[in-house]
Amino acid sequence: LFVENPLAADAQVVIEGNQAHYLGKVMRVSPGDAVILCDDVTGEWAAEVVDAAKRHVTLCVKEQLREREEVPDFWLCPALLKKDRFDLVLEKATELGVARIAPVVTRRCVADKLNTERADSIVTEAAEQCARTALPEIAPVQKLEAMLRDWPEERILYFADEDGGEAAADAFCYADDPAALLVGPEGGFDDAERAMIRAHPSARPVSLGPRILRGETAAIAGTAVWMAEAGD
Ligand code: SAM
Repeated sequence: LFVENPLAADAQVVIEGNQAHYLGKVMRVSPGDAVILCDDVTGEWAAEVVDAAKRHVTLCVKEQLREREEVPDFWLCPALLKKDRFDLVLEKATELGVARIAPVVTRRCVADKLNTERADSIVTEAAEQCARTALPEIAPVQKLEAMLRDWPEERILYFADEDGGEAAADAFCYADDPAALLVGPEGGFDDAERAMIRAHPSARPVSLGPRILRGETAAIAGTAVWMAEAGD
C-alpha cells in the first residue's frame, strides 16, 4: 500500500478510509499479519498489523525491503481521451514503468480536463499491483501549444505519427532517456498541429506500423516498445 507520510523503522502508521476497508474487509488482516508499505520517498517497508479496527488499521513499520526505484526517464504525453480509455492509458503506462504522464489537450480532443483524484487512485492502484516502489508523476493537463513552447530541449519528443515516420523500434533502439512520446486523440492531430509538432526541434515522428491504432493502443504500445528498446 502507498501511504502519505515517509516511513521509518518502528514508526506507527494508521491506515484509514478505503485502504483500511481493503485491509480489514478484503484482506481481513489481524494483529501480527505482515503488510508491505511504500511511501514514494524512501521505498518499500515490511510492516506488521498491530490493531485492525472497523475504520482504521494500525501498523508498526519493521525493516526496509527496497529503496525507491529509479524508473527510466520516459514521459508519456497522451492527448486526453474518453474517460475509460484514458483510464486504461494511466493504468498501463504505470505498469510499463513511465516516470511521468503529461496529458495534452489538442483541438480534436473530446475530453478537455482530467479528474486528477481519480487519475491518482488509478495510478496508485496500478503501482501497488505491479509492485513499483515509485509512483509516476501525473503532470497538469497542458494545451499542445504550451507544451511545445515550454518543452525541455534536452528531451527528445517522439511523435506517434500514423502518417509515417521512422519505425518506432528502430528509432528507439539507439535511444536513451530522457525521452517522451506524444500521442494524438481519437480524431488525430489536425494539419496545423501536425505541422507545429514536426517543426519543433526536439520532435521526431515514429511509426507504430501500417494500421490506424486507437489513441490508447498507440500510447500503450509505443511505451512498451520504448521500454523494450531503451528502458530498464
Ligand atoms: N488519424 C487517425 C485516423 O485517421 O483515424 C486518428 C488518430 S488515431 C485514432 C490516434 C493517435 O494514435 C494518432 O494521432 C497517433 O498519434 C497514434 N497512432 C495511431 N496509429 C498509429 C501508427 N500506425 N503509428 C504511429 N502512431 C499512430
